[in-house]
Amino acid sequence: MPLHIETPLIKSLPISRKTGQSIWLKMESAQPSGSFKTRGIGYACEEYVKQGAKRFIASSGGNAGLAVAFAGRRLSLPVVIVVPETASKRAVNLMRSENAEVIVQGKSLDDAHRFALSLMQPDDAYIHPFNDPLLWRGHASLIDEIFRAGLKPDAIVLSVGGGGLLCGVIEGLTQNGWADVPVIAVETEGADSYGKSLNAGCLVELANISSIATTLGARIVCEQALAYSRNHHIESVVLSDKSAVSASLQFLQDHDVVVEPACGVALAAVYEKVAALSEYKTVLVIVCGGVGSTADDLVEWARVECDVAEC
Ligand SMILES: *Cc1c(COP(=O)(O)O)cnc(C)c1O
Repeated sequence: MPLHIETPLIKSLPISRKTGQSIWLKMESAQPSGSFKTRGIGYACEEYVKQGAKRFIASSGGNAGLAVAFAGRRLSLPVVIVVPETASKRAVNLMRSENAEVIVQGKSLDDAHRFALSLMQPDDAYIHPFNDPLLWRGHASLIDEIFRAGLKPDAIVLSVGGGGLLCGVIEGLTQNGWADVPVIAVETEGADSYGKSLNAGCLVELANISSIATTLGARIVCEQALAYSRNHHIESVVLSDKSAVSASLQFLQDHDVVVEPACGVALAAVYEKVAALSEYKTVLVIVCGGVGSTADDLVEWARVECDVAEC
């Protein structure tokens, strides 16, 4: 049985009224771990158990780690998650409340990743946050649900970190005969490793991440995400942290759901009706969710951004 749930697919009246389009929301924020990651990570973990895995190891500062912790508890397997010193207390507490062992090690996610790999025993499965075909297959179930609902959008809007969600969505579109549906791939400035790679036509590695949307902070995206851009209509949109936070706050007002700026940035593309979206009538946004920020965090970020911009 899959570990993820079928999420609500709703038409947003408030956002549709604001933009004059039909805006549909796939509410991945409703997944048990608070983000779409439960789809791919749940699927991958189940497959690794079939292959004989006795323990899951992961490195993550947030939603991926939480999804692994959730999967481990549901599948009755121990979980070790290595998080960098920068991980939020909130994320660490949530992982621990799912019974995961959390080890704080290293200054960056790269350090945590290296340490996690050094812990690997023969019966362990390492769960990568985005670069694993099993994850993409699990994420693709999201499109299966939209297909079954009979709603073919003119475009799909989603956030890109390492590109796992993007790969899953394109796999899902392709397997449902919807390969002609364009995908708008949204990132924040300073975490735009995908946009830069699309422009360059090869994988570009960012020297550092300078966005508050740390969830999108993969310094380099997976190769498949770039490969898909050669045969699928994918457009990159890059917006500011300020736009992302402001969209998360608007979304909280419109739909009473708190989402991270990592998700807010996809919503910002819609709220701001960016040029890449202006010609489409029916737009579907993947509300990818994320538990890394509270409503108070959003308000605080908005205040700080405002000070910086002197507004
Ligand atoms: C993981 C995550 C992303 C980025 O997904 P990738 O598969 O790394 O591109 C975006 N938003 C949220 C809330 C996430 O948890």
